[in-house]
Amino acid sequence: MTMPELAYINGVFCPIGEAMVSIDDRGFQFGDGVYEVILSYDGHLFQLEPHIQRLRRSADAIQLTYDFDGRPLEPVIREGVKRCEFSDVMVYIQLTRGVAPRDHTMPNDCIPTVVMTFRARPQIPRQMRTDGVRLMTLLDTRWANCYVKAITLLPNILAKTEAVRRGYYDVVFVTATYEVRECSSSNIFIVRDGRLVFPPRTESVLHGVTQRFLLECAAGIDVPVDEQIFHVDLLRGADEVFMSSTVVEVLGVHSIDDQPIADGKVGPVTRRLYEEFQRRLPQSIRGTGS
Ligand code: PMP
Repeated sequence: MTMPELAYINGVFCPIGEAMVSIDDRGFQFGDGVYEVILSYDGHLFQLEPHIQRLRRSADAIQLTYDFDGRPLEPVIREGVKRCEFSDVMVYIQLTRGVAPRDHTMPNDCIPTVVMTFRARPQIPRQMRTDGVRLMTLLDTRWANCYVKAITLLPNILAKTEAVRRGYYDVVFVTATYEVRECSSSNIFIVRDGRLVFPPRTESVLHGVTQRFLLECAAGIDVPVDEQIFHVDLLRGADEVFMSSTVVEVLGVHSIDDQPIADGKVGPVTRRLYEEFQRRLPQSIRGTGS
């Protein structure tokens, strides 16, 4: 039996419209996966081996463990090409880390999800082929737009997982010139000479809702605030460091790269800010009417 557009999910072929993956799939939640696209011309897969090799390399690079030798993809690809009704087929292979409760840290026991789609090869119009096409230049900012709260969180989860594996709670992202940005899923603040300092809300960091709320809290307890660029040396030498996010609220940092921050204890400004945060919370919740 031939089908129009075909899908394959974890061992089962079905029409594309019926193919479903769990909303807890890490591909959907985090972009935590890798993929390939391969063309088949009249039943002949073009450069299959290099595509599979690249998929293996990509999977290795993100520590996605799939048993390529035990559960080879090639027979499935061939089967799909045979089953679908097109002579020239575009095969997408998507391999995600699998289904797990949402957590940035990679689970150890995830079973990868294998998804394939088999569709007709898109045709480049003859006219376009003979005339060529127009292009424009654009600054390469892939992926510099961290102010966008996008689902493509692969760099964040790789960083968080590496930190957790090495015994840390999280990372602080810094630039090549040692500018401090933010943590993998929270913003960062330092306290210096009684002032609260945090990195500028540029396109390179997420503009935290908690961060903004904390600015009001700081005003409420008369702590002056500076939104300014600072570097790792200032971070390490800070009087206090804390993280902020919806989930952790305000969370003190006692050390960075195994070096204590000041005396290695959560500092007084951090504690006062958290108290003010908690004090303002009920009225803030009421204020929204939700
Ligand atoms: N930075 C990043 C990268 C985050 O993922 C988050 C959490 N969503 C934050 C900062 C903190 O944002 P918020 O206070 O809005 O939760």
